[in-house]
Amino acid sequence: MRTKSKIAMFIIGIGLLIFHIDGPVAPADGQSTDTSKTLDAEVQKERDQIGLLAAFALVAETWQHQGQMANRRGHNIAALLIHDFDDTILEFGLNRNFEKNSAIEHAELRLLQKASRRLNKKEYRKLFLNYTLYSSLEPCPMCQGAMSIARIPRLVYGLDDPYFKAIKACYYQKSCPGQWCSSKVDHPLVHLIDRMYLNYKPHEKPGITYFLEQDSVRDKIFDAAKKELFNLKAKYPRNERLLKNAKDFFRNFSRSGN
Ligand SMILES: [Zn+2]
Repeated sequence: MRTKSKIAMFIIGIGLLIFHIDGPVAPADGQSTDTSKTLDAEVQKERDQIGLLAAFALVAETWQHQGQMANRRGHNIAALLIHDFDDTILEFGLNRNFEKNSAIEHAELRLLQKASRRLNKKEYRKLFLNYTLYSSLEPCPMCQGAMSIARIPRLVYGLDDPYFKAIKACYYQKSCPGQWCSSKVDHPLVHLIDRMYLNYKPHEKPGITYFLEQDSVRDKIFDAAKKELFNLKAKYPRNERLLKNAKDFFRNFSRSGN
């Protein structure tokens, strides 16, 4: 009996050791990784609208015109990483495929690499526990994989990508460890850009990145988002600081350049 108890204790100990090494990262003390549990749904909705408007506004701010080949940076896609509790914008990312002569210089991947360098080695496994990533376009399979590995707890995106469908496939199949939640923003500009792309697609072969070079898309979606962001007043006091930070981000961004 005593021997059996010792064996049982040994097995439990090994199990705990394995879980400690490879198990899920625990949230920081007193903090949940799921802000939907701590924020009222309507507050969270407004918060996500502000974050997505900021991602759209970043596209407007860094717009590259169709046919602009000289000094071309990349496609008109942008992403932001926003802290769920202190409302800071930790980092942004832009697509830089042409500038870097690389097909993998995507906005989300660049954002994760830039943000990762900001924190020390001890923190890297729980680096983004309290952040939400806002992307102007549904991320591709490569960026979705990177976000899962980096353990991004929340992703919110704008335009659907009917070609890759990476996030929808991941979300519905629940096959992506580390990525707890992803969602679309319920906002008129998001509904409009989805409709515009569905109407554009049958007539234009090149695809979504070409669609994102159309002046009509810049005018009706991205410029409109920037204007709305700057005219917006937070409905909920909890979101006033986030809105202020988003506006300040663009005021500083314009001065510091890109
Ligand atoms: Zn990507």
